[in-house]
Amino acid sequence: IEEIHITPWEAEAFVDYERLVKIFGAKPLTDREVDMLANVAGEVHVMIRRRVFYSHRDFDIFLEAYKSGRRCALYTGRGPSGHTHLGHILPWIFTKWLQDKLGLELFFQMTDDEKYWHSESGSLEEFNSLAYENILDLAALGLDPSKTHVIIDSEDISYLYPIAIKIAKKITYSTQKASFGFTDSTNIGMIYYPVLQMAVAFLPSELYRDQVMVLIPAGIDQDPYWRLTRDIAPSLNYPKPAQIHNKLLPGLGIGGKMSSSKPETAIYTTDPPDVAKQKIMKAFTGGQPTAQLQRKYGGNPDACPIYKMYEMLFEDDDKKLLDRYNACKTGNLLCGECKAELAERVAKFLINHQERRGKALNYVEKYLIRHKF
Ligand code: SF4
Repeated sequence: IEEIHITPWEAEAFVDYERLVKIFGAKPLTDREVDMLANVAGEVHVMIRRRVFYSHRDFDIFLEAYKSGRRCALYTGRGPSGHTHLGHILPWIFTKWLQDKLGLELFFQMTDDEKYWHSESGSLEEFNSLAYENILDLAALGLDPSKTHVIIDSEDISYLYPIAIKIAKKITYSTQKASFGFTDSTNIGMIYYPVLQMAVAFLPSELYRDQVMVLIPAGIDQDPYWRLTRDIAPSLNYPKPAQIHNKLLPGLGIGGKMSSSKPETAIYTTDPPDVAKQKIMKAFTGGQPTAQLQRKYGGNPDACPIYKMYEMLFEDDDKKLLDRYNACKTGNLLCGECKAELAERVAKFLINHQERRGKALNYVEKYLIRHKF
């Protein structure tokens, strides 16, 4: 994508998502799919209502398959390049909701190999141990260990390799280059890696010897993988995986998604609550340079990462969110106050999350696929 800068490894956050949907050839999520979801789930999640999850491929077909009783599964994952931050857990919260409401198994890939190949310095052992750290966050969010199967690439390759062999034969180097922007200096680990990410989409079908319909909830930046996966699925006799894409949580600096490469603008689940509060109080906002100007001209919540944190994660009440939006626009809310309130909510979340994370140390093994299949 030339004009909008977005790849699986780097992305802006305040992008024109409507244009992105068109460029990627996905479909915007409409009331039709939302009604279908409400029909099977009994309610609509706030991230759907607000279109934090806003575009899809075949989500309607996935829901129809689910309703007809066909075996379905969820698939998402994480590149364990560091501790988990709030941008990572956003799709996991929605994935947990889907798991609970639809009773689905989740296949969760930890791509320690990819992070090693992509990084300039870290060791494979380091990324591998971060994968185990990140599982603690899945546990703290309450993903069901009996239905959540974590694949750690460097240890569980035997699940993926027989499928990856077949996928690899279908994909040429020029396709890889065009899809991921690889250059002549890209190491061959990175060039092979996409095949392993694609393989998980077909793993449930292999494990259950069935045509399992898979839904992938993930950030739109992962889309190049799924377009390729869908292209080759029919030739390997697998169902095409469906996707539902979320918008990316902005970091606390100017532009850019929340990213481990800019730790000062990301809130990690392991941050001491006071550190998280400080990061929020120092954040860039859509406000005016002075309180006086803010009162006179109002702020711009649409370009404000603090507002986006409320909208995407920390304010469930639609009326209160709208009130905040209007108060910001009309200059009745000052950024200091707005940030301080968010800082309190984030600190409270972190205290609870970290307590559950600590307890999860006792049962992290229960998530590993190698103990189950
Ligand atoms: Fe952002 Fe809040 Fe300031 Fe508005 S008042 S610009 S929403 S921090």
